[in-house]
Amino acid sequence: MGKVVAPTAASQLEDELQHRVRRYELLFKATNDVLYELDLDTGEVSWNEALYEAYGYKPDEPVNTIEWWSSHIHPDDALRIENELSDWLESNENTWQSEYRFLRADGNYNDIRDRGFVLRNADGTPERIIGSFLDISHQRQLDQAKDEFISLVSHQLRTPLTVIRMYSEMLTSGMLGELETSQRQHISRIASASVRMIKLVGDILNVSRIELDRVHFDVQRLGINKLIRECIAEVQPVADEREVSINFKPDPSIRLVPLDGTLFCQILHNLLTNAIRYSKPRGGQVTVTLIRNMDGGYILSVSDNGIGIPKDAQKHIFDRFYRAHNALNIEEHGTGLGLYLVKLLTDAFGGKIWFTSATNRGTTFYLHIPETGMQPTRRHSSIH
Ligand code: ADP
Repeated sequence: MGKVVAPTAASQLEDELQHRVRRYELLFKATNDVLYELDLDTGEVSWNEALYEAYGYKPDEPVNTIEWWSSHIHPDDALRIENELSDWLESNENTWQSEYRFLRADGNYNDIRDRGFVLRNADGTPERIIGSFLDISHQRQLDQAKDEFISLVSHQLRTPLTVIRMYSEMLTSGMLGELETSQRQHISRIASASVRMIKLVGDILNVSRIELDRVHFDVQRLGINKLIRECIAEVQPVADEREVSINFKPDPSIRLVPLDGTLFCQILHNLLTNAIRYSKPRGGQVTVTLIRNMDGGYILSVSDNGIGIPKDAQKHIFDRFYRAHNALNIEEHGTGLGLYLVKLLTDAFGGKIWFTSATNRGTTFYLHIPETGMQPTRRHSSIH
């Protein structure tokens, strides 16, 4: 026999239901975020009032169709969003999120982050999407202004710093007359501080360029083994100074790979200088290998037998400005920008970077380059 609900319980249930409905109606009205509900069968859309306020539309605007919505997405974003949405609805994912430009009544576009949740019927067919717009225009403008400021300041700093470096090096070399020992010591401190500052400014500039999508990939088929040897030759003086040996194991069957030589060397240079700096004070050994991966791509590895990366630091190692505590003791003057830059560059061509490490035993960094080489991903393809 079915369960009998006492009349009091039934009306309690109804009250509760009404209470909930009212609460959702209020939430729909009260929030500043634009909320929507799209019926995928009929293409009908309901919006909360925030839409009118946020984008300046009049109440008589015919906003309640999917056609109206899609015609208000910036033409350069529309196809991407359409594809993303159909991929999402065909997948098993319940949520989706993306960013695009949405037209205001005054003819300008705002940057929005659209987050959707799909409701499906019993057999899994999508029925409705409920979602919200978060306006990120202001945040975008702030980011842009900040990055442009950094870029400008870095450019302005480089010139005077180079002058300081040049003259202090001339002074310590004795070209401008003999100096007393203590004078030479002080001036050589100025010189090495300016070298560090130039490196820092250069790193900041590189990071802000790539964060602003201003990195231009110039991809050509290059002899990768030769390129690796050239990068190693560049860091050889630092390795010699620290008595670290560098050993390269090439794969002679790998010849021409589509690469951007400058960006490839920038990545390898960072991995090599780290391997040298975080090596044993004497007798450090750095090994570079290049192999072909099973997927047709390439794997470059840089190993050292140095201080290693402590377990608790490993998940932060690609974060901006992050430096592990054991590295601070051994190398005072790091910036914590090198690996962040390496990661940004690697992502920009669809590569992968990862590492294995054990404290006081050493570290190996791996760089995976796809078979197609360093082709920029869509986001970076048209950028100069
Ligand atoms: P920096 O070397 O200037 O501090 P990076 O971004 O290149 O900045 O590296 C971030 C941190 O990662 C370093 O401070 C260090 O803690 C750790 N690290 C990087 N490479 C190695 C390595 N080969 N061995 C040990 N630690 C490393």
